[in-house]
Formats: sequence, C-alpha cells, structure tokens
Amino acid sequence: MAFSRQMALRESASRSAERFFEKKGPVSSYFGENVFDLPKMKAYMSGAAYAAVEAAVREGKHLDRSVADEIADGIRKWALEKGATHYTHLFQPLTDSTAEKHEAFISFDGDGVVERFGGSALVQQEPDASSFPNGGLRNTFEARGYSAWDPTSPVFILDGTLCVPSVFVAYTGEALDMKVPELKSLQAISDAATGVAALFDESVRSVGVNIGLEQEYFLVDEALWAARPDLVQCGRTVIGHTAAKDQQLSDHYFGAIPQRVSAFMKDFETEAYRLGIRLHTRHNEVAPNQFECAPIFSSATTAIDQNMLLMIVMQKVAARHRLKVIFHEKPFQGVNGSGKHCNWSLSTDAGSNLLSPGSTPSRNLRFLSFFACVLKGVHDHNFLLMSSVASLSNSYRLGGNEAPPAVMSVFSGSTLHGIMEDIMAMEDFSRQETHRETLSIVGAMPEIILDNTDRNRTSPFAFTGNRFEFRAVGSSQNAAGAVYVLNTIVAEALKDFRRSVDALMAGGETKDGAIIRTIRQFLLDARDIMFEGNGYSKEWQEEAARRGLRAINDVTEAFEAFRSDEAVALFEKMGVLTRSELEARYAVMNETYVKKLQIEARVIGDLCLNHVIPAAVKYQQLLGSSLDGMWKMFSEESATLCRAEIASLRRISQGIGDLSDHVAALVAARRQANQEADTPVRARLYCHEVRPLMDQVRADADSLEMLVDDELWPLPKYRELLFLQ
Ligand code: ADP
Ligand code: MG
Repeated sequence: MAFSRQMALRESASRSAERFFEKKGPVSSYFGENVFDLPKMKAYMSGAAYAAVEAAVREGKHLDRSVADEIADGIRKWALEKGATHYTHLFQPLTDSTAEKHEAFISFDGDGVVERFGGSALVQQEPDASSFPNGGLRNTFEARGYSAWDPTSPVFILDGTLCVPSVFVAYTGEALDMKVPELKSLQAISDAATGVAALFDESVRSVGVNIGLEQEYFLVDEALWAARPDLVQCGRTVIGHTAAKDQQLSDHYFGAIPQRVSAFMKDFETEAYRLGIRLHTRHNEVAPNQFECAPIFSSATTAIDQNMLLMIVMQKVAARHRLKVIFHEKPFQGVNGSGKHCNWSLSTDAGSNLLSPGSTPSRNLRFLSFFACVLKGVHDHNFLLMSSVASLSNSYRLGGNEAPPAVMSVFSGSTLHGIMEDIMAMEDFSRQETHRETLSIVGAMPEIILDNTDRNRTSPFAFTGNRFEFRAVGSSQNAAGAVYVLNTIVAEALKDFRRSVDALMAGGETKDGAIIRTIRQFLLDARDIMFEGNGYSKEWQEEAARRGLRAINDVTEAFEAFRSDEAVALFEKMGVLTRSELEARYAVMNETYVKKLQIEARVIGDLCLNHVIPAAVKYQQLLGSSLDGMWKMFSEESATLCRAEIASLRRISQGIGDLSDHVAALVAARRQANQEADTPVRARLYCHEVRPLMDQVRADADSLEMLVDDELWPLPKYRELLFLQ
C-alpha cells in the first residue's frame, strides 16, 4: 500500500481512549475558575473601580481611563496567581476566526524583572495587524487598526495567556471586525423593542437578545487528516469517493458515542466549564464522525464570544487526543454537512421572554406583536438575511437535500399558523366586534408548548415554541454575522410597529385596536415568507420563486446584497454600519471567496497530478504488463481470457486522459480568472468558470478511485476517514 496512507492507517489504529483534562470534584466546584467575572473582581479592586466595571458591564457605560489602571492591576494580580505569563487582546476580524497577539507581562527596568499590566494595555492594543482583511478601510496613510476591550465580555485565561475580549476598529473609528456591528445592533434592537414592550408594560427599561448556538462538527484522526492535503489546506476533501456505507442506515444519529470521542468530549467540556461555558448537550449527528454540542443559551455577546472560544478550545483539546476537529460546512461530499443553529429570542431587563406566548390575552398580544415584527423584518429583508450566511464553504452545504434550502422562509407550527390565518382573515377593522373577536382568538390561544411535535427540520428559520431557530448559519462561521443582520432587520420592524400603533392611537383608535390592526397589517405584509411545508421539496422551490423570494444560487450575488441601496439605508438608519463599512465588508467577502476557491482549485489540481494520476498510471502499467505476459502465453486467446483486464485498462487510460484534460482546463480557467483585476468580477469568474470545472475533475478522480488497485491508492479513503471507534 502507498506508504503515507499505510503509515497513517497504522497510526490511527493504534490509538486508545484516554482522558487528559480530567478535574476532580463536581463541575460546580471549578465552573468559571478561569474567568475573571464580576464576583471575582470584587475581591481584587476598590469599591469605586468595581462600580465602574459593573456599570460598564451592566449598562454599557463608558469606562473611564482614570479607573482603568486600577482595574488592570486587579486583573494582573488575579492572572499572575493563576499562572498567566502573557496577555492578549482577542478580537474577531472579518475572517470567521479569532485573532490574538501575545505580549509578556514581564518588563525589564531599573527594578529588575517585574510583571506589568497597565490600564492602557487593558483598554487598547495596537496589534500592527495590517494583514487582516480590511476592504480598503485602512489603505490610507494612517493604516493603523487598534483593538479595544469590550467590558461586556469578561477577561479569561487560556493556556497561560490572559485574553481580553476586544473590538477591532480602524484609526478612523470604522469597524474592522464582527463584534462592533453586533454590539451596535444589540443597542438598536434594545431601543426599538423597548418601545414596543412599553405598550404592554411601562416598566421595561431595555431588551436583550438571547442566543443558544448548537455547534456541529466532524472529527478525523490526526494521522489520517495529515495524509490528506485537501483536509489540511482546505478543511474539506476536494476529491474522494463515497464509502459503500455511510449514513444510509441512520445508525450514527443519537447512537452510542465512540469511546475515543467520548473521552475527547469530556475533556473539552471540562476545559469549557473552567471558562464558564455552559455546555449542556452532546450527541452523535447524522453523518458518520459527525457530532454536536450545545450550551444553555445566554446573552448574545456571551453566546457568540463563547462559541468562538469553544471552537479554539475544541481544537486545542483535540490535539491531545490526536484528533482534528473539522468545522467546515461540508468536509465530505455525499454525507450531511454541518451547521451552527442559532436559537434567538428577546427578553426584557426583568427576564421576561418576549417570544413566549402566555395565558392572558395581553401577554399573548405582546407575543403576537413581537412575532409579527420578526416575520415582517425577515420578510422585508429575506435575501439579505440569507446572504448573511453566504460563504464559499456554506454554499457546499445549503440547498443540499439535508440542509436548509438557500431560500428564506419562516415556519411557525400549525397552532400559531392557524391563529395568524384567523387574524389576517379579519376583514373590517373599523368595527368594535372585530376587535373583540380578535381579542378572543388571542385570549384563547393555547400555550404553545416548547418542543411541540410538528417541528419542521426543513425550514431555515423556524419558530420553536419560545424562540426562533436560524438553521442556515454555517458551522465554521462567526454567528455574529447572522445575528447583527437579524437584530437590525427586526429592530427596523419594531420601530415601524411602534410608529404605526402611535399613529393609529393619535387617530382615535384604542390601544388594543391599534395593536391588533398593526399586527394584522404586518402579517399581511409578511405573508409570502410563511411556509409550513417541506423546504427540501422541488415544489417549494417553484412556489418560492412564484412568491418572488430569491434563492441564493450564487454566493457572489449574495454578497451584492450588502451594498444594495436598501441595505445601506437600513444599516445606516439603525446605526449599525455605514456605507463605507458595508463597502469594505463587501470587498472582503469577494476577496476571501476568491482566495479560498483559488486554494481549493490549486489543491485539487495538485492532488490529481501528483497523487491520482501517478497511482492510476502505475496500475495501468501493472495491467499492461500482465496483458503482455498473457499474450505471450495465450496469444489470441488472451483477448477473451483477459477481457475484464482489457476493459479496465481501457477505462483507466480513458480516465487518466479525461482527468488530465479537465485539470488542464481548470488551470487555464484559473489563470484566466486571475487576469481580472476587479475582485468582485474575479469572484464571479471563479464562481461560474472555475468551480464547475472542479466538479468535473472530482468526478474523474472519484471514478479512478473505484478502478485503481486499493494497494496503490495514496490517500486515505472516505471509509477510513469516517469511522472512528
Ligand atoms: P434542538 O437540537 O432540539 O434544537 P438543543 O438542546 O440542541 O435543541 O439546542 C437548543 C438551543 O436553544 C440550546 O442552546 C438552548 O439553550 C437554546 N434555547 C432554549 N431556549 C431559548 C431561548 N428562549 N432563547 C434562545 N435560545 C434558547
Ligand atoms: Mg436545534
């Protein structure tokens, strides 16, 4: 067998299940020990400094530089006690991952060696990060970007380094990261939602977004991973024939967790608990070697930051287990891909869930108001919302027969859908009876039980009892991208809702009347987005097109949504992103798309030329010399005797020829596309000219895999990659 594959298989077979991060005692005894949260802060700083941090955390108050030194000193003391040697600002650039630059605490001066960490190091860092994608925002003479502590997210210690969760902005103040628009969108939705919530309860001061992120991932043995250049460089296999058995028996989903995986899960959970991540669920997913974990939901910033942190922790812990965690949305063709389901809800400062129906008419009216606003927002900006999850890697997953379709719709469940139909059917809203009738529908609304049975798994955006679940988010993505779009579009609808109710009341309508009338209008406006059927079906694709809902068939078109006049107006009006920030994001999306596809196209070309074709040629030679020998012995008779070998030889030679031709065409298309100077145009060329050729190359390579002697095949096969014990 090819040496590298054989070595990898042997190595992976020798592994055993082992724990490396076990902690003694119950989880509660070490939960959050590596996070410097408010209760810990209290012990490390003066009352005044603590009050300043608390106000910054709880009310978003600006942190005064004058107390920063004292806060930093408290942090330093705690961090040194925990054995930290370095600190870093941890930020979320536009790359879907996190960025860090470590600085040592020690400094050398007249006093000798001392550990220092001043207020200015806490509050601001200038990581000469000029290589991060910035979409032209920093190509001016002042090219600096800086990171600044976001005190709403506590500092923590990872691997002996104190991490300071930060935003990343240009010197001019423009956002260069995912977090700034997320924080701004949270402010926008809080303001707008408070206005609507106040119609029902004047004591509401603010509204927060709650999020629970379910994280799907694949695991592959490290040695096998290392023997696959495509996994190493692209995070997915660009060639590889499906295994005879993969997920068709549904025997993996919710099955017994393999020993080695279970040890890994327990270890990363332990590390996550120490970092205050409230992991709650673990299970096998549908595809072989695919798994999922989910924490208990928390405030949006915490949920998103902790998800990014969790992804880092999982990778670090996996290394000890000689495993690789794969977050790519579609690492293996032919089996399910991975998502990051984003569960989203709104709650008041008193903790009341605004998306939870209740047992009284007024509570239900409040619920329906918020529900209608979400529908309206999603309807009005459905393409933009879908575009918020558009990326090269997610495009391999979305719209497949296992993942949410690439067109937006909202599933509400039969009970709620029926109520909405009734409200929309009310005809004459000037009559008092209509109001009473509607109120009685609303009043009679049964409590929609959580986990109601008619959950529709084919919907990209489903109501699940007391929250919405946005399922199209990709497993490798920073959920902030989807969340800030969702927050912003719902904030706009909430603002319009309040405005409409106020106008109707000013015209003499009662409050309930004005609310019901607005709900009805919003539902009617949003009608086209409601869909209760099978989102995977062909009929729905046709129906969606009839309704004028645009599907994302082409990622590069989705990017355009971010610079449309409509989107610019929306984001500027809600104070989330400016035109130039959106332009920059658009530029980064195109650039990233091109670079990633370029890498994939190169890797598939290399794999075919350097691995697949040489193996096929060897087998061709083997068959050829075998036929030579047979001819010597049996002359004409060998044509009949060796008909199978002859047919194989023909197919292999044909296959090698086809593959070489297609690789040559791919290389030519890539070169051609690279000539194009305008990045968005280049992205389109890659999408339309390069990508289809990769599919062709893959088909050739995968049929050769089925023909060539297994002993000669150099790359670990799907059946070897996908079945951890
Ligand atoms: P399922 O796979 O059935 O959807 P999971 O338990 O895997 O369920 O994940 C559900 C996620 O939704 C969890 O993170 C959970 O905490 C979160 N969640 C539950 N209620 C809410 C809510 N009101 N707002 C936001 N997230 C929620
Ligand atoms: Mg779910």
